[in-house]
Amino acid sequence: MDNGISGAALKALEDMIPGEREPENGDYVGEDGLLYCGKCNTRKERIIRMPELIGGGGERKVPIICKCQAEKEAKRKEEEQYREEMNRLQRIRDASLMDAKYRAATFDSYLETKDNRKAHNVAVKYVDNFKSMYEQCQGIIFWGPVGTGKSFTAACIANALLDRRISVIMTSFVKILQNIQNGDEAQYIAMLNNAKLLILDDLGTERNTDYALEKVYNIIDSRSRAAKPMILTTNLSLRDMLEASDVRYQRIYDRIFETCLPVEVSGESFRRISAERRFDKMAEYMEG
Ligand SMILES: [Zn+2]
Repeated sequence: MDNGISGAALKALEDMIPGEREPENGDYVGEDGLLYCGKCNTRKERIIRMPELIGGGGERKVPIICKCQAEKEAKRKEEEQYREEMNRLQRIRDASLMDAKYRAATFDSYLETKDNRKAHNVAVKYVDNFKSMYEQCQGIIFWGPVGTGKSFTAACIANALLDRRISVIMTSFVKILQNIQNGDEAQYIAMLNNAKLLILDDLGTERNTDYALEKVYNIIDSRSRAAKPMILTTNLSLRDMLEASDVRYQRIYDRIFETCLPVEVSGESFRRISAERRFDKMAEYMEG
C-alpha cells in the first residue's frame, strides 16, 4: 500500500493517538462497552473515528477525563494559582526592603491608645482610600516623641497595601544614604520611585552634613516630581519643622509639607499649630 506516508511517519502518527485506558480500582465497562469511573460513574473513554490511513480507519476508544478527575484537576489548578499568587505577594514583600521586625505589623495587632487613636484612624483611612490618595499624591508625616509607634503605624499601612499587591518600599534616609554611596544614585532613586508608596522612616536621624541633607532633599524632591506619595516618620516636633531656621532643613520640610499631612502620634494637637498652613481641610477628611 502506498499512501505517500512512510512507515515511520505512520507509526509516529499512531503513537500520538492514545490507546485504551487501563482500568483502575473500581472502574468498570458499561453497557455501551466503554470504561466508566468506579468513583463518579462517568465515562473514562469515548469513541473516535480514525482516518483511513491510520490502521485502515475504523473506530477507536480513546481515554477522556471523568468528572471526578476533572474536578481534581480544577482543584489542583486553583491551588497552583493560589501558590503563584502567594509567591507574587512574597516577591512584592521582598522588594519592600522592610525590616523583618515590621513584617508582622498589622492593624489587627494594633494596640490603640488615646495617644495613637488619631494616627491609627488616619492610617486605616489612608489604606482604604489609597487609590485616591495615590492619585492626589497625598502623603503623611507621622511625628511625635520616640517610642510612640509611628514606625509601627507606617508599617501597618505598608503591610495592608502589600496584601493588596500594591508596591510599597519602607526604608530610611540612613539606609538610602548608605546605598547611594555604594552604587548608582540615579538608578537607586528610580527604583524607590517605582514603588507606589515610599515610606521613609526616621527623618532627622541622618547625618546633618551638607552632603546628606542634599541627598535627603533630592529624594523627597524626586518623589514629588514623580507625583507619587510618601509617608514619613520623625521624632521631630511639628514646631521644630515649621520653624526650622537652618535653610538646608527648611527647604526639605517645605517640600514635605507640600504633599504630606502632619499627624501627631501623641501629645498636643497639631491643629492649633498648623492652622496657618491650611492642613485643616485634609486633616478633617483624614481624621473625620
Ligand atoms: Zn471519576
